[in-house]
Amino acid sequence: MTLMPCAEFEDRILDLVEHQLAVGERPAVEAHLEVCADCGEFARELTALDAALTRELDAPVLPADFDARLWRRIEAESAPRPAADCVERKRQIEAEFAAQLRSLRAPAHWLPAILDGAAYAVLAVVAGLLLMRWAPELAALLPKSLPAGGRDWLLAGGSTGVFLLVGVGAAFRRQLGQAMGWR
Ligand SMILES: [Zn+2]
Repeated sequence: MTLMPCAEFEDRILDLVEHQLAVGERPAVEAHLEVCADCGEFARELTALDAALTRELDAPVLPADFDARLWRRIEAESAPRPAADCVERKRQIEAEFAAQLRSLRAPAHWLPAILDGAAYAVLAVVAGLLLMRWAPELAALLPKSLPAGGRDWLLAGGSTGVFLLVGVGAAFRRQLGQAMGWR
């Protein structure tokens, strides 16, 4: 730009070319452009520059191989996953499955239940042994007036009751414990 516009019009000519000038100020600037060669030339150059910039922005210049590179990229993104990826994914799934299986088989899961059950089994055996050991004495404690068959029935019923209590206790130990305030 070789021509210098009048200093007081320079900013307003810029605004005019960029369509930013207030409507009320336009007549004065346009009237000056009619009579001032420098400002008129300045305005024409700005208008041409503005038009050139607008064309550049509307149609950006792309590298010659842009299309080819874009299509290669699209093909790469949409291509099926390589076989190696599938193998790796399969290996991961198998590892997760194996880990779950191990945790299910872990002794920690069934050992407490076995020990719990074993404790009640031992209790039942001890109760049975005690009953057998003390059966004659228990029979002797029973009234002599009872017939022998009746005493046998009482012992059998008593031992059955003890085992029933142990069994019921084993089955409902959790509820029993809560009811008794043990847990
Ligand atoms: Zn001027």
